[in-house]
Amino acid sequence: MASHMQNDSSSASAGFQPVFKSFATDAIHVGSEPEQWKSMAVVPPISLSTTFKQHGPGKHAGFDYSRCRNPTRNCLEKAVAALDGAQYCLALASGSAATFTITHLFKAGDGIICMNDVYGGTNQYFRKIAAEYGIDVTFVDLTKLDELKAALKPNTKMLWIETPTNPTMKVVDIQGCSDIVHAHNKETLVVVDNTFMSAYFQRPLALGADICMYSATKYMNGHTDVVMGLISLNRADVYERLRFFQSELGAVPSPFDCYMCNRGLKTLHLRMKQHFKNGLAAAQFLEADPRVERVIFPGLPSHPQHELTKRQCTGCPGMITFYIKGKLEHASTFLSNLKLFALAESLGGFESLAEHPAIMTHASVPESERKELGISDTLIRLSVGLEDEEDIIADLDQALGAAHPKK
Ligand SMILES: *Cc1c(COP(=O)(O)O)cnc(C)c1O
Repeated sequence: MASHMQNDSSSASAGFQPVFKSFATDAIHVGSEPEQWKSMAVVPPISLSTTFKQHGPGKHAGFDYSRCRNPTRNCLEKAVAALDGAQYCLALASGSAATFTITHLFKAGDGIICMNDVYGGTNQYFRKIAAEYGIDVTFVDLTKLDELKAALKPNTKMLWIETPTNPTMKVVDIQGCSDIVHAHNKETLVVVDNTFMSAYFQRPLALGADICMYSATKYMNGHTDVVMGLISLNRADVYERLRFFQSELGAVPSPFDCYMCNRGLKTLHLRMKQHFKNGLAAAQFLEADPRVERVIFPGLPSHPQHELTKRQCTGCPGMITFYIKGKLEHASTFLSNLKLFALAESLGGFESLAEHPAIMTHASVPESERKELGISDTLIRLSVGLEDEEDIIADLDQALGAAHPKK
């Protein structure tokens, strides 16, 4: 990977891939060039106008109607494309809108293979909407490449990878899966939901994937105040089709949200480094604690795919899953007693959040499947934020104490 050139000396990232060259510079400058505006504004203006004056019929200055093209959206899309090492990017109204916009590439009878442990909404969409429209959806454990090989069919048009998975943090070999799928049929699209890693820690397009998508609601915006989706890719033909869908399906984000997300990107590299540091510290604390059954964090050597994570990522986000010792009541007591962590769904913001997947984010996944995936009553998911490390750990410690009081 030619883009891996710069070194990061921080100890947390030892053994991981080096950070992507010029990532921070691109995040700050690409798409925001002041020369594109008559005012030379250093920060892109928020273009709220829904329509644009034309010089003559059909002769416009690049913009005609805001659903189709918007100057503020353009700025964001250019920045994200640079960060993903992509030619093209499309911003959508939510991560879920990105998912359905991509899936509109297919029609009844086409096959989709999806990682069996994915975001609850993705699982719901494929199972309860796409399948109802005749798409042939199969869920496979993509950590087992033999199972992927066995699941490929002549009608397979897309592989949907999420890595690390939500919530059990399984890591999928993107290059390995892409090689298998493209050997089967080079037209089959490999899509990676890169929400958990963000563009800073993982570049799926450099690992053989055709499309990288995000719920930018999470780390990419990172400030828990925008719902947004992003799609990056290099294939011109697929881009043209998706751009048509962006306009015609119309699930576009507002100019204000585009401005906000672009603003969030300016500190993505700083935020992700600190999420990694705080996440690792919290994971190490939990792993050493006798009140905790098991910790799943790809940045820990105990993670079954730690080596693969180091091979395909530049670091890890602040997402930790752990099993508290005991039963549902212990998990509930722990969650109800957190003070600094907010008990809330979502992830990837500057603030620490905790949640109970079986009751909250993954309640829609059928119970038998939850069991199979390990989404039990004692499973807790943390999104470790950017607060001071010692305060984060003190909060976990006191909530564990509430769940397991000293006799
Ligand atoms: C939140 C999330 C989504 C859905 O994104 P929205 O912006 O909420 O529509 C998809 N994938 C993952 C991994 C997510 O965490």
